[in-house]
Amino acid sequence: MIGDTHRFTVGDFVCVAFCDADQVRDGVGLFGKIDPEVLRQGFDEAGYQADALKFSMNILYIKTPEHSILVDTGLGAGMSKLPESLLMAGIELNKIDTIIITHGHGDHIGGIIGTDGTPTFPKAKYAIWKDEWEHWLGEATKAENPNPSAQKNLLPIKDKVILIEEDGEIVPGVQAIHAPGHTMGHIALLVASKGEKLLHIVDSAHHPVQLAHPEWSPNFDVDPVLSAETRKHLFERAADEKLPIMAYHFAFPGLGQVERAGDSFKWEPISS
Ligand SMILES: [Zn+2]
Repeated sequence: MIGDTHRFTVGDFVCVAFCDADQVRDGVGLFGKIDPEVLRQGFDEAGYQADALKFSMNILYIKTPEHSILVDTGLGAGMSKLPESLLMAGIELNKIDTIIITHGHGDHIGGIIGTDGTPTFPKAKYAIWKDEWEHWLGEATKAENPNPSAQKNLLPIKDKVILIEEDGEIVPGVQAIHAPGHTMGHIALLVASKGEKLLHIVDSAHHPVQLAHPEWSPNFDVDPVLSAETRKHLFERAADEKLPIMAYHFAFPGLGQVERAGDSFKWEPISS
């Protein structure tokens, strides 16, 4: 790992995790619907400092034999390191042909349009779950209080969107898995090449403490009960199939292994 860049492979695919931005968050604020004492004890037992959680924005780049793919675009709006980091890694922005938008929150779509008002990735098409696109297009075009991030970043790409209607391959070797709850059209991804796999759970979990407490859903999950079910299901799959996972907001690079631990799970991050 060099600075904010972590290279690895999945079979024939060359992957790079980029750190778009780093934040420190308060866990008691993040999981505001749960009793603060229960939270403090849970963070403590899992070895995390509840008031100073590492919270990253991890962007996955995948180079397959056919495609140059980016999973989400980070915060954008002058808060992102992503475009510069891509260039420093030798990845030209106009060579990226596919951007997978996992859901419509600002920290995932903010980098679609640059601060100069033009698309950051001029040759890319954008794949997004159909219901998610329709939801945020509605938010972007509301007569009153339109969502500024959706308005700025989604309206300009409306002729470049590929709508995903069911689980399956977006491009060869990269599958969408509907993972609702964080938003209703949120997707996870299974990357597979030559028998090797990576499960990108994106925002199905926001901090490794949720391995020990998969029932903890953060404030910004639109359906906290459904998101907890989705989270548990993805952790079970990762543990049982021994799939390495990536998570968008875990401490950079957000990569590791999940193991079962009684009724919950244990997180083994790769060394960083
Ligand atoms: Zn997010």
